[in-house]
Amino acid sequence: MRILDDVKLDYEDVLLRPKRSTLKSRKDVLIERSFTFYHSPKKWTGIPIMTANMATCGTFEMAKILSKHKIVTTFHKYYSVKEYEKFFKTFNKPDYICYTTGIRDKDIKQLKLMKRKKLLEKFSFICLDVPNGYLQNFLEVIKKVREICPKHIIIAGNVVTNEITEEIILAGADIVKIGIGPGSACTTRKMTGVGYPQLSAVIECADSAHGIANEKGVGRIIADGGQQYTSDIAKAFCGGADFNLCGSLFSGFEESGGKTVIKDGKKFKEYFGSSSNKAMKEFYGKKDEYRASEGRYALIPHKGSIHDFIQDLMGSLRSTATYIGARQLKEFPKRATFLKVNRQLASYLERYDTGE
Ligand code: 5GP
Repeated sequence: MRILDDVKLDYEDVLLRPKRSTLKSRKDVLIERSFTFYHSPKKWTGIPIMTANMATCGTFEMAKILSKHKIVTTFHKYYSVKEYEKFFKTFNKPDYICYTTGIRDKDIKQLKLMKRKKLLEKFSFICLDVPNGYLQNFLEVIKKVREICPKHIIIAGNVVTNEITEEIILAGADIVKIGIGPGSACTTRKMTGVGYPQLSAVIECADSAHGIANEKGVGRIIADGGQQYTSDIAKAFCGGADFNLCGSLFSGFEESGGKTVIKDGKKFKEYFGSSSNKAMKEFYGKKDEYRASEGRYALIPHKGSIHDFIQDLMGSLRSTATYIGARQLKEFPKRATFLKVNRQLASYLERYDTGE
C-alpha cells in the first residue's frame, strides 16, 4: 500500500486569476481551433466541444443542430446500422460527428459492417469507449481499430493517469478520453472508491499527451465529464484539454434525448448514466448479474431550447478569454493562472446558483 499525498484538484477547487488584456471586444476572441494528429492524416477545425456518447445527448437530432455550430456530437452506442443508413440520406458533416464503439467482438463486427457499407467514411471521429481503459485487452483493440480505420481520428478512453495516456496514443489513438468518476450521472467513486480529481487528471494527462509528437502532430486529450458549469469547460481548456466532452450540460433540452416528464405541473427531462439500470434495461433488455449499476437516473428541470445554451456557452468562453487576456482558445493554457480556493468557504458557485 502507498499513499500519494499531494493534493489533486477538481474544477471547483480553483478559480482563474484575471490578467491584463489588450482585447477590445469579446467578439474578437477566436474560439475555433485547428488540430492535426499523431496518427490520423486529417486536419480538423471547429469548436473543440463534444456531447457525451449518452442516450440523453448523443443523438441524431442534436447533431443536426450542433454541427451548424461546428460542435461535435458523439453518438450513443445504440443506433443500428439501418438507422445510420437512414440518417445519412440527409446528413453530411463528417467533421462534427463521432461514431462510438465498445471493444466486444460484436462491437468490432458492427464497426466492420459500417465500413463495408461505406457508412464509417461519413464520420471523421471514432470513439472507442470503455469505463476502464486500463485493461490490457483495450490496447490490443485500439491497435486493431487503427488497422481497420487508418485515416479516422480515433478517440480512446477512459483513463486518468499519464503513463497509460502515452500507451494509448502509441497503440493507435489520436485522442485520449480522460475521466474516471467525475460524471454527474456516475456513481463509480461511490461504488468502487476509484477515481481521480478531474482538473488534475486533465493537467497531468495533457502534459504527457502533448509530449508525444511526430511530423504530423501531437497526442491530444478530451476532458470527459464533471463540467457542471460553462466555467468548468474554460478551466479544462486552461488545464490543457484539447477538447471538452459533456453529458449533463447538453442534456435536458427540448432537442436532447430522454423522455419529457411532467411532475407536479413542472416539466422535466430524463438524464441517466450509460451504466445505469435504466440504460442497461432499456438498451440491452437486461442487466447482467455480475454487473452493478454505476450510473444514476435523474429527472432534471427542462432547460428549453439548446440554441440559447449554445450562445451562453460561446459567450462565456469569450468572456473567460477577455478576463485572462487570451486572444484565442489556443492561448488559454499559456494565459491561465489557477488560484486554489477553499471549497467550503468559497461556495461561490452555489451563491451564483441561487441568484443571491
Ligand atoms: P457529465 O458531463 O454529465 O458530468 O459526465 C458525462 C460523462 O460521464 C460521460 O461522458 C461518461 O464518461 C460518464 N458517464 C456517463 N454515464 C455513466 C455511467 O453510467 N457510469 C459512469 N461511471 N460514468 C458515466
